Amino acid sequence: MTSPVWHPFTQHALAGAMVPIARTEGAHLVTEDGRRILDAISSWWVITHGHRHPAIMAAIRQASESLDQIIFAGFTHAPAEALARRLVAVAPEGLNRVFYSDSGSTSVEVALKMALGFWRNTGEARSRIVVMAASYHGDTIGTMSVGERGVFNAAYAPLLFEVETVPFPAAGKEEATLAALEAACAQAPAAFIVEPLVLGAGGMLMYGPELLKAMHAICARHGVLFIADEVMTGWGRTGTRFACDQAGIVPDILCLSKGLTGGALPLAVTLCREEIFAAHYSNDRTKTFFHSSSYTANPIACAAGLANLQVWESEPVMARIAALCALQEELIAPFRDDRRFETVRRCGTIAALDLKARDAGYLAGIGPRLYDFFLARDLLIRPLGSTLYLMPPYCVTRAELEGAYGAIRAAADALA
Ligand SMILES: *Cc1c(COP(=O)(O)O)cnc(C)c1O
Repeated sequence: MTSPVWHPFTQHALAGAMVPIARTEGAHLVTEDGRRILDAISSWWVITHGHRHPAIMAAIRQASESLDQIIFAGFTHAPAEALARRLVAVAPEGLNRVFYSDSGSTSVEVALKMALGFWRNTGEARSRIVVMAASYHGDTIGTMSVGERGVFNAAYAPLLFEVETVPFPAAGKEEATLAALEAACAQAPAAFIVEPLVLGAGGMLMYGPELLKAMHAICARHGVLFIADEVMTGWGRTGTRFACDQAGIVPDILCLSKGLTGGALPLAVTLCREEIFAAHYSNDRTKTFFHSSSYTANPIACAAGLANLQVWESEPVMARIAALCALQEELIAPFRDDRRFETVRRCGTIAALDLKARDAGYLAGIGPRLYDFFLARDLLIRPLGSTLYLMPPYCVTRAELEGAYGAIRAAADALA
């Protein structure tokens, strides 16, 4: 009998059989028949230190001795309280309220609702959201609305709300983005949402911290709420704990998920400045923040998050990240002279390059063919169309990463 499981982002008519994974270890997935596959994309960007970090797994075991899910309205628990305090301590200064949810998409939905609640409760009719072209913020209706439109969401377009879009600040075209943002902000929108420094699913598109800072300044000048979606960029990916740290900015609202538990369990938070909480703080019950998920602040997931923050404190995580940044730069640099590739780029631990190919575009045949090529070599690399990127867990070794770049070179040879 075929499996009843319907997999995400999978065209089952064209996909081969799903690969059964029996174990995970450090930077590897181990199949049921014993193959060790290098997880060069951190299992869709969630695994930071490596799979099954011992301290995080131990915290999960320990938390499950005393707690499972509890209702989070009217009740609280030590893991959620402790994690929230630690998050406030490490987040950009001034983000001192923490709202829990369970996925990146939900953290963005919460951010959008906080923004609109802020304006409604403070008596201004602002509801428009400004977004950046090529952005990705999730796959729910609200997050698709603020993300790039295309084949992924064409069927659902009638359900999506309208937004104001500023262009992606491609090198040399930064002024156009700033001018468009200035014009959009003059129309008194509620908020601007953006992925700081790296647009992930949009193709690992990168821009610099000066631009991030300039965009933040424009929003601040117009009183437009600045929402930083650091679901992917958070937890060291860009070389600093948060991408916003490189621009020295404090967003009004910050979304975190993926690496929040080191990737072990689903958990998300939306942090905000005091003013946004204060706008919902009232004797008037209609000003309540009306949002909850059944699994809000799952205690075991919070314990995993707390253990992750402990790992950041007790292990040389920043030094590991710095070493990985340097290694990525060293290994990707030669591709800048390889004419089969273009837009060779790196931001922190993330390196990306585009294969020059005639059938580019996400749905073109090249992506799946490359994917199969790499998987046959025990490498998990999932191209975004003809864009190849490596975003490995921080425990990856030089030899493993050299192997991955060797396979990328071999793929270009095979295509020639
Ligand atoms: C992955 C991602 C999301 C969505 O997170 P999920 O946990 O998959 O819902 C939102 N924003 C960004 C920038 C992401 O990379």
